[in-house]
Amino acid sequence: MPNPTDSQISAPIVAKFGGTSLADFQAMQRCADIVINCPQTSVVVVSASSGVTNLLVELSRATLSDAQRQQALSQIEQIQQQIIAKLTLSEQAQEQINHLLAQLSDISEAIAANPSAQLTDKLLSFGERLSSTLFTQVLMANGASAVLFDVRDVMRTDTSFGKALPQVDEIKPLVVSRLLPLIKDNIVVTQGFIGADASGQTTTLGRGGSDYSAALLGEALGAAQINIWTDVTGIFTTDPRITDQARALSEISFNEAAELATFGAKVLHPSTLVPAMRTNIPVFVGSSRDPQAGGTMVRNRTEHQPVYRAIALRRSQTLVTVTSMDMLHAPGFLATVFTILAKHNLSVDLVTTSEISIALTIDSTDNDSSGRALLSDELLSELNQVCQVTIEENLALIALVGNKIDSSYGVGTKLFGALGDVSVRLICHGASQHNLCFLVADDVASSVVSRLHHQMFQLEDGAVS
Ligand code: ADP
Ligand code: ASP
Ligand code: MG
Repeated sequence: MPNPTDSQISAPIVAKFGGTSLADFQAMQRCADIVINCPQTSVVVVSASSGVTNLLVELSRATLSDAQRQQALSQIEQIQQQIIAKLTLSEQAQEQINHLLAQLSDISEAIAANPSAQLTDKLLSFGERLSSTLFTQVLMANGASAVLFDVRDVMRTDTSFGKALPQVDEIKPLVVSRLLPLIKDNIVVTQGFIGADASGQTTTLGRGGSDYSAALLGEALGAAQINIWTDVTGIFTTDPRITDQARALSEISFNEAAELATFGAKVLHPSTLVPAMRTNIPVFVGSSRDPQAGGTMVRNRTEHQPVYRAIALRRSQTLVTVTSMDMLHAPGFLATVFTILAKHNLSVDLVTTSEISIALTIDSTDNDSSGRALLSDELLSELNQVCQVTIEENLALIALVGNKIDSSYGVGTKLFGALGDVSVRLICHGASQHNLCFLVADDVASSVVSRLHHQMFQLEDGAVS
C-alpha cells in the first residue's frame, strides 16, 4: 500500500485529522507523531473531537430542556478536560479554552431563547475551535513550532448557514496573504468545517466538511498533497462496517472516488475531490491509528481502471413517482414537473421515466428532516394539479462504482445474479461511465451490498488493485 511520503515532495502538504483521530489525548499524540514525522506538513486541518459536533447539534435544538442543555455542555467540557489533564497548557491556551467554553454556554442559552440558523452555525463552530486550540498545544508539547490560525480569516463562504458555499476566488488571495507567510517557520493548525461570510459571520460547510476544508486550503496553497487521516486504512471496496470482506484500495481515480463520496462513502466529504481535481493535487487517505499500514492514493490517473472498483451505500432516500395520462406523447411534462421542484428549491437526485410516469429520488442524508418532510404541502399541491404523486420512504441507494460500467459486457447479469429475489425500486444505468445506481428497501440494503461485494470482488479475479 502507498505511504503518504512515498512521492518526492517539496511543496507543502496539508494534513487533515478527523474526529476519531482527535478523540482523546492518546489519539492526538498519534496525530502529532504523524505531523512531526512528515516535515513537509505545513498546514494541519482538524475536525472537532469525536462526538463533540453531535453534542453541539443537540445543543442547537430549541426544544432542549435546561437540564439537557447543561448535560450536553458538561459532556463537551469533559472531553476537553480529559485532554487537558494530560497536557501542560500555556496560561494563554487555558484562558482560550475557558473563554471558548464560556462563550459556548452563552450562545446555547441565546439559541434556546431565540433559535436561528446564524446562531446554530456559530454554536457548531466551537468543536473545531476547541480541538484546534488543544492540538496546537499537543504539537508544541512535542517540540514543534506550531501556531493556531483562525480559518475564518481565509475560508470565505456565502451566507447559506449550515451548508455554506466556499468562495474559491476569494479564498486563494486570502490564503496567500494571511496563511502562506506563517508556514515558512511554523506548522499552522487550523479548523476544518467552518468559514465566515463577507461580513464575518461564522458559517459551516455541512457535516463532515473538514475534508472539504483541507482540500480547499490545499488548492489555495498549491499543496503537493492532501493527507486525510481517519479511522480506516484507506478507501475500501465498500464500507468496512458493512462487510469484513471489504479491502483497502491502493489507488483510485478522482472520478471514481468522487462518485463513491457522492453516493455515500462517508470516508470523504462529497465535495472534497472538487478542489483536488481542479488543481490535480493527489489525495492520500490513511489511518491515524495505523499510519504504517499505508493507505489509498487518489489521483487523476490510476495504473488500472477496473470495471468494478467499489460499492457505496446511502440511506435515507425517498422515491417520488409522478404519473399523468396526459404525459403520453405530450411534450413539456418533464419541464413542468422540474419547474415546480426547482421553484420549491428541491434538489432531485436520480431520475427515471416511463411513458406516463417520472420516478425521482430525494436525498435527505444531510438534513435533520426526512425526505418526506422536504416535500412541502405547497409543493405537493402544485404537483397534484398536473399529476398523481406517490411517495415511498425507507429506501437506500446502492452505487456500483468503476470504469466503463455503462458499456461493459455482463454488468446486468452479475448485478441481478447478486440481487436474487430482492425487489429493486429504481435503476439508473447509462448516464455515467463510472456508476450504476439502484434503490432497495433500507432494511435489506446492507445484505445486498455484502452479496454484491461478494459477486463483484470475491468471485472476480483482479477486480481490485
Ligand atoms: P473522520 O471522522 O475521520 O472524518 P468519518 O467517520 O467521516 O471519519 O469517515 C470514516 C468512515 O467512513 C469509516 O469509519 C467507514 O466506516 C466509513 N466508510 C464508508 N465507506 C467507506 C469506504 N468505501 N472506505 C472506507 N471507509 C468507508
Ligand atoms: N465536526 C464536523 C462534523 O462532525 C466536521 C467534520 O468532522 O468533518 O460533521
Ligand atoms: Mg469525515
